[in-house]
Amino acid sequence: MRRTENSEKLFKRALESLSGGVNSPVRAFKAVGGTPLYVAKGEGAYIYDVDGNKYLDFCCSWGPLILGHAHPEVVRAVHETALLGTSFGTVHENEVLLAELIKKLCPHIEKLRFVSSGTEAVMSAIRLARGFTRRDKIIKFSGCYHGHSDYLLASAGSGLVTFGIPASGGVPEDFTKHTLIAPLDSEAAVSELFDTYENQIAAVIIEGVPANNGLLMQRKEYLQYLREVSGNHGTLLIFDEVISGFRVGQNGATGMYGIEPDLCTYGKVVGGGLPVGAFGGRKEIMDLLAPDGPVYQAGTLSGNPLAMAAGLATLNFMVKNDGWNKLEKRSAEFTRILEAETKDIPVTIVRCGSIFWIALQEEAPRTAEAILTDAGAKYRRVFAEALDAGIYLAPSAYEVGFVSISHSSDDLAEAARKLGKIMRSLFQI
Ligand SMILES: *Cc1c(COP(=O)(O)O)cnc(C)c1O
Repeated sequence: MRRTENSEKLFKRALESLSGGVNSPVRAFKAVGGTPLYVAKGEGAYIYDVDGNKYLDFCCSWGPLILGHAHPEVVRAVHETALLGTSFGTVHENEVLLAELIKKLCPHIEKLRFVSSGTEAVMSAIRLARGFTRRDKIIKFSGCYHGHSDYLLASAGSGLVTFGIPASGGVPEDFTKHTLIAPLDSEAAVSELFDTYENQIAAVIIEGVPANNGLLMQRKEYLQYLREVSGNHGTLLIFDEVISGFRVGQNGATGMYGIEPDLCTYGKVVGGGLPVGAFGGRKEIMDLLAPDGPVYQAGTLSGNPLAMAAGLATLNFMVKNDGWNKLEKRSAEFTRILEAETKDIPVTIVRCGSIFWIALQEEAPRTAEAILTDAGAKYRRVFAEALDAGIYLAPSAYEVGFVSISHSSDDLAEAARKLGKIMRSLFQI
């Protein structure tokens, strides 16, 4: 039996001093049951908890760790930088180097700005889009997550296309009334919103690869439609690439589909495990930011040296080692085995580059509404048995998994076989 006493003790203490015992809700394991694992150490593809258990980690800090844990180049860069001071609150060389590297990898980014989280990146990009277009409304899609700023915590009302209603306590209805919500995968829904709110829509924001509610791969024609309809209406198209950026390829969903949004937001991988977000795009839009323009945006620790060093080390390693191709091949082989192992049961493996999702249903859904509602209960068992087998999946049926450069082909093949066995026993085959 796996030991969990030390994690249990720590979590009990945490419940007395941290709200819900955690600093971000999914970490509390409410969706899967059991006690969260207190991680003592990460090394390559593995994490080790305070009870001495070792797990192959498919969460990878929710995506940032594309090189795996404590990668020597990232550790060295952070260490060397820290010796020279962790923050100056002024300009320094590495922020220029990282901005230049991002521009090289993502040619549609003419200018950008760094912030400290994905939430901030999206919030700032939307403010900028509103400032540029002098319009208030935005279109967001149900099933896409864009961080926890007030007006993005909106859910769809009862109609097919609606203005948003608050999806969280503490968010006034007045704050979400400019957030229009449409289901994914429907040109008709978006067209209806553009008809109803003519000349009022500042931006359409979408995860080019929606990966926060399962992995809801969109049709290329649909994304092209969003590009066209936005352009035709003077509306900006924003790709939220916080997960997909530098993950599904060097230029994220933008490069993968060959569709250029007006603005992009980044986070996760771009910080190599330290808190970084970024937003960027067309120069004429980005030039509206303070101090050159009227749209205000700032941050005490924005572009801080440690975070820039980790981001640079991560992206440079990926570039120099053909990282995205390697990850693509290894991840494809992993999901090929997983598919073979689960071919007779109602399980669908969805993959985009090194992002994968185990959908506990016959077909891959394209919309949040098409995810079967019993997924959560089934996933609880898969998750628990995977832990016992030394595999750490994300603690929710709706979260995706990530493969890092440190996951070896052998690690992956073994994990795929173990997971296959667990799922076959779940469906009693
Ligand atoms: C994670 C995520 C965010 C929020 O980023 P934080 O760094 O958690 O604030 C925003 N958008 C997408 C697509 C994300 O995956």
